Amino acid sequence: MNINWYPGHMKKTKESIKKNLQLVDIIYELLDARIPISSENPDIDSIVGDKPRIVILNKSDLSSHEGNMKWQQYYQNKGISSVLVDSLNNRGLNEVINISNELMKEKKLKLEKKGIKNKPIRAMIVGIPNVGKSTLINSLSGRKGAKTGNRPGITKGNQWIKLKGNLELLDTPGILWPKFEDESVGLNLAFTGAIKDELLDIESLAFKLVERLVETYPQFLEDRYNINVHEKTTYEIVENIAQNRGCIGKGQEIDFTKVSNIIIDDFRKGRIGRITLELP
Ligand code: GDP
Repeated sequence: MNINWYPGHMKKTKESIKKNLQLVDIIYELLDARIPISSENPDIDSIVGDKPRIVILNKSDLSSHEGNMKWQQYYQNKGISSVLVDSLNNRGLNEVINISNELMKEKKLKLEKKGIKNKPIRAMIVGIPNVGKSTLINSLSGRKGAKTGNRPGITKGNQWIKLKGNLELLDTPGILWPKFEDESVGLNLAFTGAIKDELLDIESLAFKLVERLVETYPQFLEDRYNINVHEKTTYEIVENIAQNRGCIGKGQEIDFTKVSNIIIDDFRKGRIGRITLELP
């Protein structure tokens, strides 16, 4: 999904999320495990305030194991609960539920003393576009496809999805804007597909990605495309990939658009390997 953010739009979004925040006990802040810094909303602290928060590192199937461990340690050191999740394959979901219960233990005890029992814990998901909010809502609720709200006969407005462990999830996530100011953040968002190919044309994007991977994961590139990256320019590397992948036009010229699409798609689908682009 592409959203153009304007100051007015951002203000409205913030206000609507803040309104929903009043309805919930816990916030699930969804980040992309490959780029936890770049996929964070710059105003998240002021939006969430002191509500309990769980950082969900989604798409952890696409990020490196080592990176995942480092990020978990990072949040632990900051006293923030974090969970590695793969929403596509339902990994980490029980941990989200367990930590939610853990975080709400004290509040629950207080309520019980007042005679209020089994009050559900209410949660909502927030995150930037494409980080996996809808996928997570679907996997947490065990439903497939589109949500069922807003049909005739169903009350309009917020719907609560019942989860395991006396938990209720707001069916509409809060969509937050990413950071724009920093070029490297923009690139990370473009590599991962959080902003859809609007920052750079596909060829420049692929060249930038290859440049980055030569620095950080050269072996993955070599293995995936059966090439040698040693002492080669980015141009030569992309050329080699094109040759090995048959991205050659009728006049024997390299089809850079085709090879660029292959490289970007391979990266986004995790076919080059499990890659973390940002470490703490
Ligand atoms: P939203 O805009 O935040 O609601 O994002 P979506 O739920 O629409 O997900 C965006 C894309 O990421 C979709 O193609 C999903 O299939 C994919 N996706 C979501 N979660 C995961 C995950 O944990 N792992 C992987 N590999 N892909 C995911």
